[in-house]
Amino acid sequence: SSTSGAGARIAERARRVVPGGVNSGQRSVPGLTDLVITGTGGARFRTADGREFIDFHAAFGPPLLGHNDPDVARAVAEAGTSLGHMGVGVTEGEVLLAEQLVELIPSVEKILLTSTGSEATFHALRVARAATGRRLVVKFQGCYHGWHDSVSLNVISTPERVGGRDPISTGILPEVLEATLVLPFNDSEAVRAAFAAHGQDIAAVILEPVPHNVGALLPHQEFLTTLREETTRAGSVLVFDEVITGFRHHTGGWQTISGVTPDLTTFGKAMANGAPVGALGGRADLMDLFSSRPGGPTFFAGTYNGHPSVVAAALATLRKLREEPVHEHVFRLGERVRTELTALYQRLDVPAVVAGYGSVFVTYFMPGYAPGQLPGSYTDLLANDAALFVGYRRRLLEHGLFELPLNLKRSHISYAHTDDDVDRLLTATETAVRSALADGGAGDLAHTSTMGGARD
Ligand code: PMP
Repeated sequence: SSTSGAGARIAERARRVVPGGVNSGQRSVPGLTDLVITGTGGARFRTADGREFIDFHAAFGPPLLGHNDPDVARAVAEAGTSLGHMGVGVTEGEVLLAEQLVELIPSVEKILLTSTGSEATFHALRVARAATGRRLVVKFQGCYHGWHDSVSLNVISTPERVGGRDPISTGILPEVLEATLVLPFNDSEAVRAAFAAHGQDIAAVILEPVPHNVGALLPHQEFLTTLREETTRAGSVLVFDEVITGFRHHTGGWQTISGVTPDLTTFGKAMANGAPVGALGGRADLMDLFSSRPGGPTFFAGTYNGHPSVVAAALATLRKLREEPVHEHVFRLGERVRTELTALYQRLDVPAVVAGYGSVFVTYFMPGYAPGQLPGSYTDLLANDAALFVGYRRRLLEHGLFELPLNLKRSHISYAHTDDDVDRLLTATETAVRSALADGGAGDLAHTSTMGGARD
């Protein structure tokens, strides 16, 4: 088209003035380094090269209602004309939002707003250390909690005390990494052993209740109850990182679905449909440590926390989630995708497990799974054929469909997706998988399919 080459030119300018040409580590996707976004709306996005894609990546998850939802956009515009950011005191919008979150989410008695999910998990671990006077944090293989030091271990770190051997970043003090234990997900025995060995030193256990940073590992109910029992017995703080699961799977989070109530919960992403927000809520006695009491508060601050336009976006998103059949719609389409993809792979005789929950889906290409059987830990996912996983997604691009072509990345359905979008996904997937198989997976692109830090 007449705009062809425009993306490459802008991306080249970006690389001259922005390190790596992107503002977040996972935005530079091998094979897509000239991707320049010029417009988004509903289930679509457009590029500087004049191409349009049906978007099943959905920005790693925030736009549950679809990109640029008109009701959220209107609320943000109205807030913008009446209320600028002051940075002192409080606004009624912040109160309304907190009141609703307290009402909706079982663990939340009090809540604070941040601008990102990473800030929320940072403050969760800080206040857990403050409350317990302990040092260690337990996290799980396959889970990502942000960019800060305590959790900056590769999601594929081996399930043992890591001791700084596998950070996702340079520049971190080894003693910080050493204070983090990594355990395999869904392994109750490993949790009991860690508490037997270190229980009195464990300040917090943090997990994605569904580790979506490696696609979708569903938690065993007995694993969640073991975490609750062990943390309660040892006096450690149980943190559910619901940055992805919150609002997307249920307005009351995975804790409502599972019936297991953590002490603290972190949120982000779908909470404001894409406006920059995070939140940390939980037990009032823990949350009150953040108040500026004489004698030592746990410090919490942020120039943009509770920004009026972000609060307006969150309130409008919540209203729509409560008043319209958003979950009904995305769950129905998600179920359709999983069922029909499973049938497709059976027909093609390709060993595949289509996993996910509600609006989230991901296909792992691995043999030996009976219908309905699912992988439960990151170790299980080592059997996934990364070349095919990335290879069919690269070919989907040629059909105007976007699932992120990086290994183990999940895909998302929004309220703006239609049955027609799903039809197109199914048809294009069949063609793309057939073609990837004919070329032996990703073909010459196979070398780009390693998962690196698998963070987003
Ligand atoms: N927790 C989880 C589960 C996440 O998936 C992410 C980001 N993908 C974060 C925390 C960090 O959130 P943010 O990128 O907004 O800092």
